[in-house]
Amino acid sequence: MNISETRDLMNKYEISPTRSLGQNFLIDDRVVQLICMGADVSTNDNVLEIGPGLGSLTRALSDHAGFVKAIEIDKKMVAVLKDTLFDRKNIEIIHEDALKVNFSELFSENSRKIKIAANLPYYITTPLVEKLIIDMAQADVMMLMMQREAAERLIAVPKTKLYGPVSVLTALYGQVEKYVKVPAAAYIPRPNVESLVLRIVRLDSPNSKFHRFNLTKRKRFKKFLDLCFSQRRKKLLNVLRGSEYDKIISDGSLTAFLSVSRPDGNVRAEELSPDMLLEIFCMLNSAYEE
Ligand code: SAM
Repeated sequence: MNISETRDLMNKYEISPTRSLGQNFLIDDRVVQLICMGADVSTNDNVLEIGPGLGSLTRALSDHAGFVKAIEIDKKMVAVLKDTLFDRKNIEIIHEDALKVNFSELFSENSRKIKIAANLPYYITTPLVEKLIIDMAQADVMMLMMQREAAERLIAVPKTKLYGPVSVLTALYGQVEKYVKVPAAAYIPRPNVESLVLRIVRLDSPNSKFHRFNLTKRKRFKKFLDLCFSQRRKKLLNVLRGSEYDKIISDGSLTAFLSVSRPDGNVRAEELSPDMLLEIFCMLNSAYEE
């Protein structure tokens, strides 16, 4: 939808964007088409959209996809979507808080590929991306639009301020590309900052330990990462001491393992690569599973 179509719709349904819900509506059809192209959406695909808003992306996704499920928290948006998209048989609008939905159960009924596309609400970008990766690690591709700073967090590398659990999960889930820059003028209302669409393609190497984890283990890994980064300036061994992993810390195995990075094993989580953190998690867990 362009600017005048969006304004007409807002007037007709008496909508004024709610800032606290991160409502910035995309008014650039070129960006909408680029997102569909980047995900290579076809009738063989199920698409999950978070925050459909007034439906500009939803409509385009439904033109190409087998089925689209769109999760929207705001009941005013849901009413507009149900009214304007009623004739589309391949869309389901789910009125829910996306952070509370069990994504992994959404498409269990058929075997189409799963793709994700979203212009994410800025106030919960990081937890939503973490949840998408944990719950939907089987998705082929994620086309995620977000503000620049959130994007920098996803692609941050070790030994930088922004590196954290979401950067680790993103790197283990897939290959990230800065797909397109989106200027503030592409939205109403205009945000203060530029946005980016990241295209993240699932790494499907059969050797990927992360992709061999089941949902329970991915959730446990996320908890482990949160713990590791909970006190960024502290050495990892000290952070884990006293935690559920205490037993293996005391027996010295982790110190021996970390000495690959530094002879005394005194490293911080933020100094370790995503693969190294994954290895540590596997090692700690195998000690408890035996
Ligand atoms: N997709 C639309 C577009 O591109 O024009 C709207 C994008 S707007 C940046 C974010 C949308 O997410 C809004 O419609 C907002 O109501 C919705 N939203 C905010 N928090 C949400 C949540 N917790 N769960 C689901 N939707 C949410």
